Amino acid sequence: MSFTLAIVGRPNVGKSTLFNRLVGKRLALVDDQPGVTRDLREGAARLGDLRFTVIDTAGLEEATDESLEGRMRKLTERAVDMADICLFLIDARAGVTPTDELFTDILRKRSAHVIVAANKSEGSAADAGVIEAYGLGLGEPIRLSAEHGEGLNDLYAQLMPLA
Ligand code: GDP
Ligand code: MG
Repeated sequence: MSFTLAIVGRPNVGKSTLFNRLVGKRLALVDDQPGVTRDLREGAARLGDLRFTVIDTAGLEEATDESLEGRMRKLTERAVDMADICLFLIDARAGVTPTDELFTDILRKRSAHVIVAANKSEGSAADAGVIEAYGLGLGEPIRLSAEHGEGLNDLYAQLMPLA
């Protein structure tokens, strides 16, 4: 059975980098400047023998009259409603921020199946952030590096029973 995975989280945590890695084509733009990608983006993902649809949530960073919080909420809710599973990314180097806590709140209210991943986890500088991610109360965080392709085995292990 196939499923849809939505990658959610605040700007700049590495959502598009992971999307690109899973899709294997550069369908989503990645840039050092937050805000190059727009809205929701869908791709056909492969991870080991798993085939699934992945959604990248972007478009959070454009300057509009609406608050960032409002846009994050709407976009994340749309993605969650399209998805069977949500992959909630935090930045392990930054640790858990108040914005991450807001996402936790959105995801809990939506009662989605959530997998947490602490991205940018390559190297020991990320250890504290990974430990903080346990405190979100959304289960054991995956130690991930989207850029270096590390931790994908742990992502596979969490997705496989749900597929
Ligand atoms: P998004 O806004 O959540 O989609 O984040 P992006 O995928 O655009 O990434 C934001 C920045 O984080 C870019 O400069 C990426 O190269 C960088 N980045 C993404 N994944 C990793 C990672 O695993 N480790 C490190 N050190 N940087 C990363
Ligand atoms: Mg992006």
